[in-house]
Amino acid sequence: MRARRSLIDLDDLSGDELNDILDRAADFEDTEPAPLLKGVATVNLFFEQSTRTFASFNFAELRLGAHVVNLTPGDMSLATKGETIEDTALTLAAMGVRVLVVRHPEVGFAQRVAQAFDGHVVNAGDGAHAHPTQGLLDVFTLREEFGSLEGRTIAFVGDILHSRVAHSTIAGLQRLGAKIVLVGPEVFLPSEYAKPGIALERDFDAVLPAVDAIVLLRIQRERFAAMPLSDAEYVARYQLNAARVARLHERTIVMHPGPYNRGMELDDTVLEFAGWRYAKQVRNGVFVRMAVLDFLVNGSP
Ligand code: ASP
Repeated sequence: MRARRSLIDLDDLSGDELNDILDRAADFEDTEPAPLLKGVATVNLFFEQSTRTFASFNFAELRLGAHVVNLTPGDMSLATKGETIEDTALTLAAMGVRVLVVRHPEVGFAQRVAQAFDGHVVNAGDGAHAHPTQGLLDVFTLREEFGSLEGRTIAFVGDILHSRVAHSTIAGLQRLGAKIVLVGPEVFLPSEYAKPGIALERDFDAVLPAVDAIVLLRIQRERFAAMPLSDAEYVARYQLNAARVARLHERTIVMHPGPYNRGMELDDTVLEFAGWRYAKQVRNGVFVRMAVLDFLVNGSP
């Protein structure tokens, strides 16, 4: 089979490809990797701030032996000298670059790069649209926790409308047969989100005892002009706090893509809860990104 060229969203992957990536990630977790990307020229192009995703891609690339260059907007002719992203991509390809990891605030930006670039593009987040490697690491973490996800109920709470993580993770979970419950106010969760396999709930308290996992989301304040409801109202209705944690089943796990905002979507009780899996997600992110890079560059064995 010819290797898939780029990863723009989870929908790009067939069920077999998705499982292949998750299995590779599990192998990378268990065994020291061979230098599967030895000498592969890789550039990380980050036009938006990032801590976890940026560091995680770097570690993944370095662990596999790639040659890595990082470019931020301040370094690029694109920002001030009128070069288009298409011409930047051609320039990098001429240097022998084979992989571009791209983060940008504009929806569809990674897709644009993929059309211009003769190599592999990994979308590391395009506006509110998609963040497939975060989706994969969330799915991987849930699969590790529960084995099969068939029939498991996963709740996403908060600003689903602007969350590229929610969009990508939901796509992956639906492939694996999980039931999705979305929880939030209308302004962050329009009714159109209800679909087969995806239920909507405005009342967080109503879902607490019944879910296998909760994915908390940060309010994406950088993606809209004014907060549509007060922080106090949001906290009262949707914060996971001590009282709500006490109502969770003891096997329920809580996840967050980070960065989390203490005092908004969660309080400190959550960080001490036995089911809090944030660090596990971050750790798994490196294995999953190694798996994605190996899958794109080397294809199937
Ligand atoms: N880090 C994630 C993202 O880049 C989630 C967030 O920023 O809230 O989308």
